[in-house]
Amino acid sequence: MKEFRRCTKCVMDNMSDETITFDENGVCNYFLEAVEQMNSGSYLPNEEGKKRLKEMILQIKKDGEGKDYDCLMGISGGLDSSYLAYLGAVKWGLRIMAVHVDDGFDTELAKQNIKNLCAACNIDLKVITPDAEQFNDLTRAFILAEVADLATPQDNVLFACLYGYAKEHNIKHFLSGGNFALECILQKSKGGTNTMDMVHIRDVHRKFGTKPMDKLPMMTNWQRLWNVKIHGIHTNRPLNYIDYNRNRAIQELKDFCGFTYYEAKHLENTLTKVVQLYWYYNKFGVDKRKSHLSSMIVSGQMTREDALKELEKPMYDETLMNRDIDEVLAKLNLERKTFDDIVARPGKLSSDYKTDKLFVWANRMISIIVKDKKVLVK
Ligand SMILES: [Zn+2]
Repeated sequence: MKEFRRCTKCVMDNMSDETITFDENGVCNYFLEAVEQMNSGSYLPNEEGKKRLKEMILQIKKDGEGKDYDCLMGISGGLDSSYLAYLGAVKWGLRIMAVHVDDGFDTELAKQNIKNLCAACNIDLKVITPDAEQFNDLTRAFILAEVADLATPQDNVLFACLYGYAKEHNIKHFLSGGNFALECILQKSKGGTNTMDMVHIRDVHRKFGTKPMDKLPMMTNWQRLWNVKIHGIHTNRPLNYIDYNRNRAIQELKDFCGFTYYEAKHLENTLTKVVQLYWYYNKFGVDKRKSHLSSMIVSGQMTREDALKELEKPMYDETLMNRDIDEVLAKLNLERKTFDDIVARPGKLSSDYKTDKLFVWANRMISIIVKDKKVLVK
């Protein structure tokens, strides 16, 4: 049994992450790397950020001239994408096409938030409803495969739809809610994500799927690379150019369209909620709140003391948790007993299944070429 150790600057610890390292002052590698990134310009909540944001908006508008839309974005109903949609449409005057994947697990609150937001922002919203039978079967296959990232089918379908619309409407820009302020610390252990890795997805499907997956819009890493490098579809992360403060964003959205925030990050969808609060913690020993709170410490939105207090609260109300789990399992056609047995076993790594190793290698090579010779991009 190893000794419990927690970082002296943030709230990451060696129970949630066995890859964590500490320096001589007890500061973890996550915190040090995040600070280094911030210092090298990953987060610019200052005059430089203002300047870059202005340039970004001008470029997006220029590239959108004569087209149906200036840019495209995915809306989950969560805070990051909702706030970005509001800023983009209302404050920056961008003509946004928004895409939402309704996988059948949206909470009522998320549905209401998305509806209110898009109406108030006058945003064109496309709602994609993937084939429920195939989508649920694929998600079920990921549970049976016992890997950490059960959101892989969800995310892949969203990306496939986004790139599909981008090409259909000849849109060159994505707005991404990805941001440093609330996400600069992301846990690395337990396999990582394989969102666009169709080799991985197909292997899990082949081993545990019971239905075809031909009706699901999906895309490979190679297709994405093609879209980025050849079609020049650019992903913009404007939240890194502003002082992105969670509490202020919640309040602004509330005042603007009655947006109601969820208890925490990623809880807008019942499946995601079960994955974040139950699956990761009970099967993989990962308390996702630790990286979220640590990110906020890095970006100066929370003290370590307050984060520790936050961690003392129960993660998931038990009655609510059982209701959520039962709702998810009913849709996935999985017995609670089977699920509990799976959760009780140690988790598997995505590398226990096939992954697209060739892509990882090729992507590295192409990045080097592109960087050196400035070909292919834009
Ligand atoms: Zn730390």
